[in-house]
Amino acid sequence: MTEEKRYADVIIDVSLEKLDRPFGYHIPDRLNGKIDLGSCVMVPFGKANTLRKGYVVGLNAHSSYDPAMTKDIASLAEKSTSAEERSLEMAAFLRRNYGGTMAQALKVVLPAKVTVKSIEKKQVQALMSRQELYSLLAEAERKHQSAKARLLQALLDQESIPYEWITGKLGVSGQTISGLERSGALRIQVTEVYRSPVKATEEKAGELTLSRGQREIVEAIGRDLQEEKAGKYLIFGITGSGKTEVYMELIARTIAMGKQAIVLIPEIALTYQTLMRFYQRFGDRVSVMNSTLSAGEKYDQCQRAKNGEIDIIIGPRSALFTPFPNLGLIVMDEEHESSYKSETTPKYHTREVAAHLAEITGAGLVLGSATPSLEAYEATRRGDIRLFRLTERLTGGELPRVHTVDLRQELRSGNRSIFSRKLQELLADRLNKGEQAMLFLNRRGYAGFLSCRECGEVMKCPHCDVSLSEHYGGRLQCHYCGYEIPRPAVCPSCGSKYLAAFKAGTEQIEEKLRQLFPGVRTLRMDRDTVRTKDSYEKILSAFRSGEADVLIGTQMIVKGHDFPKVTLVGVLAADLSLGSNDYRAAERTFQLLTQAVGRAGRGQIPGEAVIQTYQPDHYAVKFAAEQDYEGFFEEELLYRELGGYPPVSHLLVVQVFGKTEEGTSELAKRLANVLKSEEGMRVLGPAPGTIAKVRDQFRYAIYVKHDDPQRLADVREQLDLLLREWDPRNEMVQFDFDPVNIL
Ligand code: ADP
Ligand code: ZN
Ligand code: ZN
Repeated sequence: MTEEKRYADVIIDVSLEKLDRPFGYHIPDRLNGKIDLGSCVMVPFGKANTLRKGYVVGLNAHSSYDPAMTKDIASLAEKSTSAEERSLEMAAFLRRNYGGTMAQALKVVLPAKVTVKSIEKKQVQALMSRQELYSLLAEAERKHQSAKARLLQALLDQESIPYEWITGKLGVSGQTISGLERSGALRIQVTEVYRSPVKATEEKAGELTLSRGQREIVEAIGRDLQEEKAGKYLIFGITGSGKTEVYMELIARTIAMGKQAIVLIPEIALTYQTLMRFYQRFGDRVSVMNSTLSAGEKYDQCQRAKNGEIDIIIGPRSALFTPFPNLGLIVMDEEHESSYKSETTPKYHTREVAAHLAEITGAGLVLGSATPSLEAYEATRRGDIRLFRLTERLTGGELPRVHTVDLRQELRSGNRSIFSRKLQELLADRLNKGEQAMLFLNRRGYAGFLSCRECGEVMKCPHCDVSLSEHYGGRLQCHYCGYEIPRPAVCPSCGSKYLAAFKAGTEQIEEKLRQLFPGVRTLRMDRDTVRTKDSYEKILSAFRSGEADVLIGTQMIVKGHDFPKVTLVGVLAADLSLGSNDYRAAERTFQLLTQAVGRAGRGQIPGEAVIQTYQPDHYAVKFAAEQDYEGFFEEELLYRELGGYPPVSHLLVVQVFGKTEEGTSELAKRLANVLKSEEGMRVLGPAPGTIAKVRDQFRYAIYVKHDDPQRLADVREQLDLLLREWDPRNEMVQFDFDPVNIL
């Protein structure tokens, strides 16, 4: 029996600062059962007891104040549709579906109020002729001064640029700017108040004649927007097929109707080129939200959105919560990207939250991808999302020819190098011709799984059909159910003693490549070489300008960059991401391989790709080599259905952390019992976490599956009730609904 919750925490006006100081109110009998988290209520306030509007952010069984002194809530208030109230509703949605506290959820949807000191607005103006600027640019590029080069390039595009844009969006230091000022290339002008980071250029767009495919999509979605019956859409089209152009056209129509648009893109895709396209078309009605903005700037952006000073915001997942007064369109580009899932509580998925926001505001939701997530594509099958395709690449270039190389065969023929003979041959050919190549090390999700180098066998959990992870002390363990076996000495399938995963890093690959091709010019890109956004752009631009023959990198290099001179892509070990221990391994592998292969042959010369793998018959590898999304989808959906994984079924992970083994396992067991007592819940665990004790914390995980996501949300609320009696200083619980990365 749970106690009735008759006390409410109410915040009087909505702002993040007030969150920590809610006021306690009593819920009178007549309102009992009618008040929920996020409810809008009228409460007596202050000495005079004037009625004020407030929002319920917490419900309790007991009052933390003297109950006799606690005032009653006066009434439920009519909800209006203001952006603020919508934020509260979104927070309530986040809390209910993904767990955590109302305060945590509100922190996601509300910007911190920070007073921004008014700073001088400075403008940087070019002083030299274009000719002179060009020669400075060439010199800067030769000397690898990429920040300087970016600034010069920007000045060539536009003579006068706001100082903050240069230091912020372009990532150029004040030093670099003053250096150029001293050499007479530019001057810094102090200007009057301005708002837009970039002035709209004359060539206001819309000049492109849309292709037939693009036009059909724009007409169909545009009609729905016009008739106020916008729904959800997926544009499935390879990179370069003109999706962004479609988004912009739809945004233009949205604005023409007096509404606003949110454009979500993965943080890594927030490049200067992308932003410039939007600025050129929409000028100062666009604003950008990214992780480099300070809290003050973010707050400022939200104010501008609220006041109707901007119509479009572009940014990663947090941009979804921009408080536009009349939202008309949400665009979510590269919707399959895993960065759309928040990794901190509440661990929400942007696609799901965007769908909810679209529903409550009546806005349209347009998803775009070259390799749609199973979730989105499956929804098009069910008719929840309308599917459109773009099949042509508008800038030319054909899909590359793909060779799949069986690494087991290579080993049998005595080749122990990390480069197959085919890849060596093609690399030599490209180096001869002065063309470029990319070598891709697929390390995504790599978590110490074990496979046989001779027959390709991967050690898997017999219950969960995911690979087992190797642990200290030579044991193999399943992350889902805790199944454990000692590490076998020889392959259970063929008896070989070559049991190891492909362990080379990019550095080793570079070294081996240099041994093989002395004098080869290489660039490396992985988490170690890319510490800052600046170095990321630097490496890419160096490679684009031909400063290296081969770019070696992890998944970072396969994201939508265009390198017209790349005619060969080598995937060194396609299986690494297949071996990862979660149910999305095949999907991730398929996406990465498809993207990697798509890098070759963007220019006029047709490209080739080599996929090296121990599992040439794995469907993710086969369908990626054939660039056959449908084929992959069918097979993968079957696997998800059999395993009871999303999008067919849904999965809630309950993670329990604690100081003592006893306390942690005790709480985990109690939570599991609650779950097991619910009808239709399939419960796995509790199992000790992957690395059971990390940083002096014990961890247990419980996996619960159910076909109806709402049932999982309900049962999660029940766990919350039980947890209320638990001291969070000793044990703590986190929820992850339909996880993207399993720990
Ligand atoms: P995606 O977003 O699918 O990668 P983009 O919209 O960026 O595709 O288009 C790829 C390239 O093709 C861009 O350089 C864009 O300017 C160009 N493009 C797009 N639509 C057209 C069109 N209708 N006519 C000519 N070029 C186009
Ligand atoms: Zn074997
Ligand atoms: Zn298992």
